[in-house]
Amino acid sequence: MSDYVIPTPPVTSIPVASGGAFPVRRVYCIGRNYAAHAIEMGHDPDREPPFFFQKNPNNLDTTGDFPYPPHTSDVHHEAELTVVLKSGGKNIPVERAMDHVYGYALSLDMTRRDLQGEMKKAGRPWEIGKAFERSAPIGPIHTVEEIGHLDEGAITLKVNGDLRQEGDLNQLIWKTPEMISYLSEYFELAAGDVIMTGTPSGVGPVVKGDVMEVEIPALGKLSVTVT
Ligand code: MN
Repeated sequence: MSDYVIPTPPVTSIPVASGGAFPVRRVYCIGRNYAAHAIEMGHDPDREPPFFFQKNPNNLDTTGDFPYPPHTSDVHHEAELTVVLKSGGKNIPVERAMDHVYGYALSLDMTRRDLQGEMKKAGRPWEIGKAFERSAPIGPIHTVEEIGHLDEGAITLKVNGDLRQEGDLNQLIWKTPEMISYLSEYFELAAGDVIMTGTPSGVGPVVKGDVMEVEIPALGKLSVTVT
């Protein structure tokens, strides 16, 4: 018996392709991590220090549906590789960072671009544009044991069969071990942490009825319908 005074909120988890479920503690997202996307958003792609924002664990969604959110008319897809951690710590050296990786998943960092733009212009936080209900569709986790580490390979997103986003994981400005090491200098990382690694160029709006399909060959495909 606990003495919680309200019902315990459910733990968000992501299914693991080989069986079981991965419970989520935090969700970190990196911005502008592919040069071509930095340029399309009006920024210099030079290797400036990475920056991060967070979504909430229960923004992750594994249903395959993305309900069009309120208070926006410009919701964008951002196809991303997600890295999930089985352990963590502070001040993790780059050379040890990959020891903490449990696996990888396909994901979408859905963004209310109009609201994000207003917040950027006003110098305000981005949550209203990024951390809304079901804003992070995600596929099953493929473990390092099963597929090894992913540092190259095509990442694409199609909408209704048309290619919209295309890049290669080898184009990440900040590589996975560098992201983990950098984050661990500012936050204490732990098992259950999820890192969305940024999106290649070609982001754009979706409308109700669109079917988004993210693909990284080693991870298969993630298909999400805008409802
Ligand atoms: Mn993103």
